[in-house]
Amino acid sequence: MDHKVPGTESGSLFNRIVDFINKDVEAKNETKKLTVVIRILLISVMVYFSINGIINVKELNFAVILFYVLFFAIFAGLFVISYYCRSMVTLWIFNFGMIVWIYIILYLYGWNIGVQHFLMVMLVLFFFSSYKRYTRKIMYAVFLCALRILLFYICRYRDPLWPLTASGENMLQIVNTITIFWCLSVVVFIFSNNSQELERKLMDYNMQLEELANTDALTGLNNRRKALQYMEYLIQKSSDYTTFSLCICDIDFFKKVNDNYGHDFGDEVLKGISQIFKKELKGKDFVARWGGEEFLLLFPDCNRDDAYLKVENIRDKIKSMKIRRDDIEVSVTMTFGLTEYDFNSDLVASIKEADERLYQGKEQGRDRIIY
Ligand code: GH3
Ligand code: MG
Ligand code: MG
Repeated sequence: MDHKVPGTESGSLFNRIVDFINKDVEAKNETKKLTVVIRILLISVMVYFSINGIINVKELNFAVILFYVLFFAIFAGLFVISYYCRSMVTLWIFNFGMIVWIYIILYLYGWNIGVQHFLMVMLVLFFFSSYKRYTRKIMYAVFLCALRILLFYICRYRDPLWPLTASGENMLQIVNTITIFWCLSVVVFIFSNNSQELERKLMDYNMQLEELANTDALTGLNNRRKALQYMEYLIQKSSDYTTFSLCICDIDFFKKVNDNYGHDFGDEVLKGISQIFKKELKGKDFVARWGGEEFLLLFPDCNRDDAYLKVENIRDKIKSMKIRRDDIEVSVTMTFGLTEYDFNSDLVASIKEADERLYQGKEQGRDRIIY
C-alpha cells in the first residue's frame, strides 16, 4: 500500500515551484540571483493583474478585463523569456514592459491610484542588479526621476480615459500599495541577504588570512612577524604594563640532530618543543618561532626574576622530553638569554641584549639561562 505523509504533496509542489523559479538561465557564468528576483516580480505582477481583472469581472467591465488579460499574457511571455535570455536582457525587457504598462495605467486611470510608485521598485532593482557601471545607474535614476515628473504633468493636465469612482480608486490604491511594498521587500531582501552573506564570508576569510600570515606553518606557533607586532602593542600599551621580560632561546647542537637522524626527525623535535611552550605558557605569556631553531618568549607584567622561574620550568620540561621514532630516542637541551624590557629603552637594544646573553650561555656550556 502506498502511504503518503500528510502535507508532503503540497510540500513537493512548493519545492517544484521554488526549483522552477530557481532554474538557471541558458547563459552560463552569470549570477542567477537577478533572474530569480525578476521571476518573482513577474509572478507578483501577474497576481496583481489577476486581482485587478477579478475586481473588474464583478463590474462586468470587459474592456478592462481584456486589458489585464493582455498584460498578463505579455508578462507571462517575459517569464518564459527569462529562461532563455541573459539576466541583463531580461531586466531591460522587464523595465521596458513596466514603463509601458505604468504609462498606460496612468493614462487610463490617472495619478490617484499610485501605480507610478512601481518606478521605485525598478530603481532599486537596477541598483542591485550589477556591481559595476555607476554612471549607468546614476543615468537610469535621473531618467526614472524625469519620467515620473513627466508622467505627473501628463496626468495633471488631462483627464483619465476611464475615470474611477472614489471607492474604485481606494481599492486600486490599496492593491498597488501592497504589491509595491511586496516587490520592494523581495528585491531588498534577496539582494541584501546576498551582500550580508558575502560580507560575513569576507570577514571570516580575512581572519583566516590574518591567522595564516601570523602563524608558523611547521610548529603552529606565532611567527616573527606576529612577535614584532605583539612587542609594538606592548610598548604602545606601556601605561597598562609595568614591564615585560623578553627571552630568546635556541636548541643546543640541533645541527647534530639533523645530521644524525635526518631533517624530518629534526622537525619532530621542533614540534615537540613547541608543544611544551604552548602547554607551559599561560595567560598573557607569548611565544613565537623567531628563526629556524630559535624561539622568542615574552612575559608581560613580569620582572626578570619571575620570568626566570617560568623559563627554568620550561628548560627543565624540554630537557626531560623524549622524541621517539622506531628505536631512536632523543632528548635535547636549550639555552636561554633573558632580559627585562625597560620602557625608556629601545626594543632593538633589548632584543640584542637577550641575544648576547643567549650566546654567553652557549659559550659557558649550553643548557642554561643567562639573565
Ligand atoms: P648551537 O648549540 O650552537 O646552537 O648549535 P646548533 O647545531 O644548534 O647551531 P647551528 O646554527 O649550527 O645549527 C642550527 C641548525 O638548525 C641548522 C639548520 O639546518 C637547522 N634548522 C633550522 N631550521 C630548521 C627546520 O625548520 N627544521 C629542521 N629540521 N632543522 C632546522
Ligand atoms: Mg641557532
Ligand atoms: Mg642551535
